[in-house]
Amino acid sequence: MKKTEIIVPIEVLAYDELTPQESQLVAEAREATFRSYAPYSKFKVGAAIQLSNGEIVSGSNQENAAYPSGTCAERTTCYYAHSRYPQARFEAIAIAARTENDEFQATPISPCGACRQALLEYEVIGGAPIKVLLVGAEQVYRLPSVVNLLPLAFTEF
Ligand SMILES: [Zn+2]
Repeated sequence: MKKTEIIVPIEVLAYDELTPQESQLVAEAREATFRSYAPYSKFKVGAAIQLSNGEIVSGSNQENAAYPSGTCAERTTCYYAHSRYPQARFEAIAIAARTENDEFQATPISPCGACRQALLEYEVIGGAPIKVLLVGAEQVYRLPSVVNLLPLAFTEF
């Protein structure tokens, strides 16, 4: 029997270590949390995607009384970004969250499995890695690619 390991490269950065472009994307993701509609979970998530055409698209989680009908911030944002700018490649995504007490979550948030799968597909069709910035109150995790969030991913490509 052979064994193998999958290593996930994560850079842990203070806010002042981000590039100006990353800082802007993080700020847009944080701002998007204030547009969340989360009356049930009280967990307000925002995402912002840097597109290859220079645009930044942001979005937030949108819940519904019929609970599975709601959508996470990441999918709200990536579906809107690709429907609005279908020719643009996703270059980076930042994701932030505020908890029930309205504070930004201390530990950087990471996407759910469904969002990882959705983001991976946009990375594949874009033909280049999407940088991932997972935002916490005091630090940001930077990953070079969505693949790092979803090892051994299912893909038709
Ligand atoms: Zn999700």
